[in-house]
Amino acid sequence: MSERYQAILLFGAPGAGKGTQGLLLGNVPGFFHMSTGDMFRTLDRHSEIGQVFDSYSSRGELVPDEVTVKMWREYVHAQTILGLYKPHRELLCLDGIPRTIAQTHALKEYIDVCGIIHLVATNPEEMVTRLQKRAIEQKRVDDAKIDVIRNRLEVYERETRPVLDQYDSGLVHEVNAIGTPAEVLGEILRILAPIQATVHTTASST
Ligand code: ADP
Repeated sequence: MSERYQAILLFGAPGAGKGTQGLLLGNVPGFFHMSTGDMFRTLDRHSEIGQVFDSYSSRGELVPDEVTVKMWREYVHAQTILGLYKPHRELLCLDGIPRTIAQTHALKEYIDVCGIIHLVATNPEEMVTRLQKRAIEQKRVDDAKIDVIRNRLEVYERETRPVLDQYDSGLVHEVNAIGTPAEVLGEILRILAPIQATVHTTASST
């Protein structure tokens, strides 16, 4: 078996619903969800790294690549040590990474991408509304201001969307992000179940 983690990428603009779908998917046997946004938000805001995160996320900017990749590696490793993520039996569902071309290159050494779910929203205004609603519900300072939201969407177009071109187009599956969480999840599972069956034949046994 390869040393690299077998991974699925959840891809899409801020507000497309990656986090919601990641959480749901993480509850399906054989999938382990890992969100870099959540990883950063668990940091102590008074620590040095917590302050670095705050200074970027509050402006809708990305945390520098080197810091992000280093932290991600340590975080995945910690999850395996704790037995929360079982690489030989679970597909790693990455939500929020890679988000730049440099991250894509850096991650190649650690992950083998078996599929990419691209959540596509045809109506950008719907994304803005979703982000504002979430900011209120989750008290997220980064999404509370409209100019920060706009910046996040611009950063996505400039830095993150080009990441998709780095992968074989056969790996990319477009999913309509507009729908109920159950509808979108149904569509994602229709795509991922066969991939899971090929990658991990033991996924159904616990
Ligand atoms: P969303 O899912 O709403 O796009 P996240 O919760 O994934 O946002 O991320 C929140 C913030 O965390 C980002 O705005 C960014 O500052 C930081 N962040 C998350 N993932 C990455 C990454 N891969 N590279 C750099 N910064 C990141």
